[in-house]
Amino acid sequence: MTVSDLFKTMAYGPAPESPDAANAWLDAHARQFKLFIHNEWVAPSTGDYYDNFNPATGDLLAKTAQAGQKDVDAAVAAARAAFEPWRTTPGHVRARYLYAIARHVQKHHRLLAVVESMDNGKPIRESRDIDVPLVARHFYYHAGWAQLMESELRDYGPVGVVGQITPWNFPILMIAWKVAPAIAMGNTVVLKPASYTRLSALLFAEICAEAGLPPGVVNVITGSSKAGNMIVKHPDVDKIAFTGSTDVGRILRRQTAGSGKRLSLELGGKSPVIVYDDADLDGAIEGLVDAIWFNQGQVCCAGSRLLVQENIADRFLEKLRWRMGKLRVGDSLDKNSDIGAIVDQTQWDTIDGWVKQGAKEGGVVFQPDIPLPEKGLFYKPTLITHISPAASVVQEEIFGPVLVAMSFRTPEEAIELANNTRFGLAASIWTDNLNKAIDTAQKIKAGSIWINCTNLFDAAAGFGGYRESGFGREGGKEGLFEYLRPRWEARPRPGYNVSDEERDAALAAWARTIPGRPANGAAPMTDGKLPVIDRTPKLFIGGKQVRPDGYYTRPVCGPDGAVVGQVGDGNRKDIRDAVEAAHTVAGMWAKDRWAARAPYNRAQILYYLAENLGAREEEFAARIVTMTGRTAKSAREEVAAAISRLFSYAAWADKYGGTVQETSLRGATIAANEPVGVIAIACPDEYPLLGFISLLAPAIARGNTVVVIPSEKHPLSATDFYQVLETSDVPPGVVNIVTGARDHLAKVLAEHDDVDSMWYFGSSEGSTFVEYLSVSNMKRTWVSYGEPRDWLDPAQGEGEDFLREATQVKNVWLPSGE
Ligand code: NAP
Repeated sequence: MTVSDLFKTMAYGPAPESPDAANAWLDAHARQFKLFIHNEWVAPSTGDYYDNFNPATGDLLAKTAQAGQKDVDAAVAAARAAFEPWRTTPGHVRARYLYAIARHVQKHHRLLAVVESMDNGKPIRESRDIDVPLVARHFYYHAGWAQLMESELRDYGPVGVVGQITPWNFPILMIAWKVAPAIAMGNTVVLKPASYTRLSALLFAEICAEAGLPPGVVNVITGSSKAGNMIVKHPDVDKIAFTGSTDVGRILRRQTAGSGKRLSLELGGKSPVIVYDDADLDGAIEGLVDAIWFNQGQVCCAGSRLLVQENIADRFLEKLRWRMGKLRVGDSLDKNSDIGAIVDQTQWDTIDGWVKQGAKEGGVVFQPDIPLPEKGLFYKPTLITHISPAASVVQEEIFGPVLVAMSFRTPEEAIELANNTRFGLAASIWTDNLNKAIDTAQKIKAGSIWINCTNLFDAAAGFGGYRESGFGREGGKEGLFEYLRPRWEARPRPGYNVSDEERDAALAAWARTIPGRPANGAAPMTDGKLPVIDRTPKLFIGGKQVRPDGYYTRPVCGPDGAVVGQVGDGNRKDIRDAVEAAHTVAGMWAKDRWAARAPYNRAQILYYLAENLGAREEEFAARIVTMTGRTAKSAREEVAAAISRLFSYAAWADKYGGTVQETSLRGATIAANEPVGVIAIACPDEYPLLGFISLLAPAIARGNTVVVIPSEKHPLSATDFYQVLETSDVPPGVVNIVTGARDHLAKVLAEHDDVDSMWYFGSSEGSTFVEYLSVSNMKRTWVSYGEPRDWLDPAQGEGEDFLREATQVKNVWLPSGE
């Protein structure tokens, strides 16, 4: 080819990045790596090693250790020993260490990028220009939080020893997202990287030591999923932070249920890219290329579902096919490669299996006629059209360079299709109409929304999912709380600690326990002494007092065992009705939805509840005395605190909407604290009115709708509250109350797929099962493990912890400029 030919075709040749420095580093370790514990390289007790290959060339890069139980124990012990000194190291000193790590990451920028691309197969342009700069950014950003912790987060302390398990798609970046906030907040870490991509984690370990990080603060254990599981089950680990597939996330939720360990899960996705007919189509095409072919589509938030408006669909897809024909698939160390290698043969086979499945399901598969390198694990960019929204390739995460495309007619249809998924990680919206963009952004259930852009990340904005994409955030101030615990709260160490098999058996028994139910449905007598008092409050569902489905009632006894009242004994059907009622007014889809009401209006309603409760203060106090036998003074104190709490959340109703995040985007990144949806609440027995109000009020203040199970022992404060609700303009369906056997009803709620979060303040056994059963739809949970809380103390009974549980952060990215 002559120079003039080149000018005509504009073709360009390879621009390879040198692997020399990476090879020298591997050689310096004789291409064999041990485990990094207490800042020392330690041979694995198993004696086993694993081969790590370069997927672009098939070359063996190095052997890495396979940790066993002894090694995990040693790493946890090192982290435990380092915890106290690290926790008490002044924030400024910790900040200096994080700053040093950031500087050393920058110093080794090129080496890190090349090692990452060789190990994972991703194009060097991405590891060099996106992944590694973001790693440094995360350490700088969190150095700032370490510095500010003592002044800005003084009511919080670290969680303890944290087990962190990361995936292979962004190996070094996921490590930074986890390690930086953890150590900034005074925790110590045992990290296990994914098997396919261990090398950058080992290089990072070396960087930590080089930066002078004290021994034991960060320990890196390489090993199989079994080693990961040993970390998860280790009794001396206080928190698990996991990024990976939803299937494994489910396993970990079950395994940690009832242990008192904190858990954050960053899981899979199937994110939509919505292109409206008024979008800049060329811009949208470039956005789409980035959304789905960045990192070979092996991205949790990959824009893998294209939704394009019908009247432009043909033109848009034609442009897309043309653009796909221009993508360069090739060597990951070539700076001109757009798409690199797939991480491993197993993943390649999975992707190919999905593409074949798409064809079987009636999809039309398009792959451009572009060359692939002769060896290495490369896969062509793929587009599947003519496919139904219910097809498995539309519903399941493929985790490869495969885009499925569908069309829509109206914005309502676009939103419905976008939300027609069990995931909720991200979405990107393309339109020149700002009103439509923001309206769509508000209605999509996902943690990150990019308007006229895609795949933007920054340490200052939390990343994480809704629904089965997991819970917890990484980055931003919101992400810090994953690694913090209120100072007053010790790590719960619940007494209920059983094996998986014992748990299954106990679960069956637990579900059968419905204490107090009379055998024949007749109004029960307690001990034969007293006739039942003839006043039975019903359930409160959809704004009405309704009879329990089974017509059963249950007695409420005072401290001396005498019956002081009756309540309805709710069952599974009642719970289902209550959840349905809560759903009809949840969300922001229409003006009549609770979350769509102006915050000022919600605040007014909470003040009105306080006002109406205040008018009946004596009556509520008397009821507490009757049920609990406490003194009138103590009961009055409880009612007064309940009124004050309603005032608190009336105040918070319009003061917790979110912030503008200070990311590196030119424009605005808006963090909206959105409601979670339908929250199920099982109330504690202590403080029958205050416990109930302390949980109900933050949930509804922040726009959630609720299904509440009042105290099982003392439910009459909640049933008396029906009348307060009825006279305070609370819309039907916002608050639903089902009395009955708490654990029996909690089980139904924990398993219910339309409940978005479950708060359980009861026994340690019940807490275990709520966490265990929540995997049905990966709902969020907040449980007490049987630990009592002083509801009268504002530090324990109200505040930002409650608001955080009542919200989830959605970051909306709005670029500015032409
Ligand atoms: P994965 O199979 O779930 O593995 C993730 C990590 O968990 C690996 O380190 C793995 O070890 C380990 N592991 C597997 N089974 C385990 C078990 N039973 N107990 C403890 N640890 C276990 O996921 P992947 O294939 O590496 O990553 C792809 C997935 O990650 C996708 O679903 C993607 O969407 C998700 N992801 C999510 C985010 C996010 O922020 N939401 C970001 C990136 C990726 P081995 O490698 O040794 O098996």
